Amino acid sequence: MTLSLGGLTSLPVRADSTTHIRAVRLWPAAEYTRVSFEAAEPIRATLFSVSDPDRLVLDMEGIASIAPLEQMAATLSAQDPYLRKIRVGHFKPGVVRVVFDLKSPVKAVTAVLDPVGNYGYRLLLDVYPESATPDPLAPVLGAPDPVPLQVRNEPLAPPTVAEKPVIPPPPTAVSAPVLAETADVAPKVLDSAHRTLIVAVDAGHGGEDPGAHGHAGTHEKDVTLAIARRLKAVIDEQPGLHAVLTRDGDYFIPLQERTVKAHRLHADLFVSVHADAYVDQEARGSSVFALSEKGATSVAARWMAQHENEADLIGGVTIAPHQAYLAQTLFDLSQTATINDGLKMAHAVLGELDQINVLHRGFVEQAGFAVLKSPDIPSILVETAFITNPEEERRLNDPVYQQKLAQAITRGLQDYLRKSHAWSHVTTGHQDKLAVGR
Ligand SMILES: [Zn+2]
Repeated sequence: MTLSLGGLTSLPVRADSTTHIRAVRLWPAAEYTRVSFEAAEPIRATLFSVSDPDRLVLDMEGIASIAPLEQMAATLSAQDPYLRKIRVGHFKPGVVRVVFDLKSPVKAVTAVLDPVGNYGYRLLLDVYPESATPDPLAPVLGAPDPVPLQVRNEPLAPPTVAEKPVIPPPPTAVSAPVLAETADVAPKVLDSAHRTLIVAVDAGHGGEDPGAHGHAGTHEKDVTLAIARRLKAVIDEQPGLHAVLTRDGDYFIPLQERTVKAHRLHADLFVSVHADAYVDQEARGSSVFALSEKGATSVAARWMAQHENEADLIGGVTIAPHQAYLAQTLFDLSQTATINDGLKMAHAVLGELDQINVLHRGFVEQAGFAVLKSPDIPSILVETAFITNPEEERRLNDPVYQQKLAQAITRGLQDYLRKSHAWSHVTTGHQDKLAVGR
């Protein structure tokens, strides 16, 4: 069992001070389970592990009331991948002990966060599997596509609740192709004659990071996941395309981890799904953004990128056991060619969104979105609609409209691929037949 104590004992807090726990949140997921303790004051705690049987022990000092901890313990699901049981009790005067009984050996990391957004002080405990699970996609990705690409001239499936079999999340082992630091990276040649093209579909936000919220209480993280699942389902119906989700549950993934996942999954394209927000309820419409290397194309675009990049602060980034290699990845490479491809893809998707919604602006904007910084995967960020506009909030929750969004984005991707000649060998003479499902 591996423990990484993220500065738990280094807080400058008086020993006799009292900590009022406001909330404890559990975010179970196959990738990792997170426990987030939130308090009005900094949380002082010590984490250690015990084996036979495996358990994690968290001793928390100066806790005013253990009721919130007991309530959290009662909400533990039997389906949690790692935690079997949570026990809370007074260990000795001034110390509350939380014991996490484990289903299997784990790696545990913690982080202490200062107040940000609507959150007070937080202590995060992230529990990962000790050994990486096998990559469920490896057999698919390693072999040539056995099904030849063909143009299909039939409508997309009618709107349905997307409950397709879920592809489990990727392994947590270090298997990402780390690019040579000196390379001037060119975009991949999209050689779909020999394999299926992979689209990484990224549902924005998740878990501790709810994203924006609408006046009726809709969380951005929920509609992005619903739309992303539909987008995956629609993409998977297209010959020669296969989609993978960066998350398929309500848990947080750091922005850079999303791009690293896309690389690990050998993605050819990356689409991050979001919902826009503004103080003015009248603001409405769809937008598509691409990365910029040289600053934002407008003040609004810069603000949008800053806003989306705050996800890591809100969501809370810990250094996961498998992430030590991140320091050497991916950034500061020349991304010009990839950004140009992302721009073309953004134009194509914006053109299709124009068919189903008003556009917030009639053109693609660029800014420094962290989640789009893949050196060799053309990447876009889609602000599907304004969650702060009551009418658009209602539509974002509407399964029929979610399906329309998924279909429009897919048509845009197909349009981009056709124009970039990735599909030229199959589209010759049949180009009009690819624009399905309108
Ligand atoms: Zn967002």
